[in-house]
Amino acid sequence: MLGFMPRIEINLSKIQHNARILCELYRKQGISLMGVSKAVLGEPLIAEAMIRGGVKFIADSRLENIQRMKNSRVSAQFVLLRTASSQAESIVENVDISLNTEIDTLEKLNYYASLQNKIHQIILMVEMGDLREGILPHDLFLFVKQVLCLPHLKIIGLGCNLACYGGIKPDRQKMQQLSALTDAIEQKFDLNLSITSGGNSANYEWYKSTKQVGRINNLRIGESILLGCGTVNRQVIPKLHTNAFKLIAEVIESKVKPSLPFGEIGRDAFGNIPVFQDRGMHQRAIIALGKQDTLISGLSPDRDLEILGSSSDHLVLDSQKSDLKVGVGVNFNLDYGSLLSAMTSPFIKKQFVN
Ligand SMILES: *Cc1c(COP(=O)(O)O)cnc(C)c1O
Repeated sequence: MLGFMPRIEINLSKIQHNARILCELYRKQGISLMGVSKAVLGEPLIAEAMIRGGVKFIADSRLENIQRMKNSRVSAQFVLLRTASSQAESIVENVDISLNTEIDTLEKLNYYASLQNKIHQIILMVEMGDLREGILPHDLFLFVKQVLCLPHLKIIGLGCNLACYGGIKPDRQKMQQLSALTDAIEQKFDLNLSITSGGNSANYEWYKSTKQVGRINNLRIGESILLGCGTVNRQVIPKLHTNAFKLIAEVIESKVKPSLPFGEIGRDAFGNIPVFQDRGMHQRAIIALGKQDTLISGLSPDRDLEILGSSSDHLVLDSQKSDLKVGVGVNFNLDYGSLLSAMTSPFIKKQFVN
């Protein structure tokens, strides 16, 4: 079947399989998983596949995605990864647990939780060096003290996020530090913290190399479930599928042409002065897919084709080694950035296969 193009084929049983293998792997040392759905726009069928695979929580950075899943009756504990005070009312209404770092936001959450007669659960994120979200460790005690004055909030644990902005690896030392902070906060305030969430897909290497996870008993995993890899070196995790997603787009031109543009060189559509390699006359193809649809740099064709470049709506290939006829579909594997953008594009149809 040719079908609609461009489309992304999503294999739900492969996603479920990946979630199950990862849940089993991490459970061996007492770690539960939150399945992270933000890269797939909170697609309800994908969240359900993760749940069938064994994740207890579904976590997303966008409230809209969580609302979408709840509207589709996905049943899980929902975790909001990115909290904004302007959304406090809706967060309390829609989300079971949110990750937080700002007292003003927590005051708003507490206010709306009191209006809605709820106790909203929170995880406090600690800054461990990656310099994205987090309370600095030396501010944590005072921070917790302030939060404990907000009666409609319950601190259920601490978390940290590494390898996202600053590229800092989650290693033994960072995980020990987070464990020690959990112990210290519990003792100082006579609390019971049930979750210590040590990170994301980048924690795989640390996990494989450690026999002592300390207090770490949760991870928030997106990419490993979806694409089958860890994220520090993009290493494939044994027994996981790396091809649960496939992007298929149509050949709209296939011709022998020169490899060097001819005429006076100015700038391309994005203001750059392009540079080309002379390959003589060669077979080239154009695919109906462009920067508007996905992040082109993260695509890899599944046959012997080379991506030469792209504009907003056209992808240019060297097809010398793999003859392409106009009208056929070409398959691409996607990395995380391409998956994220392709899932967000209204032009790419999402098709589920099993
Ligand atoms: C996106 C995100 C994750 C998941 O990251 P992956 O690399 O996809 O596993 C975990 N935690 C937070 C706070 C995030 O924003």
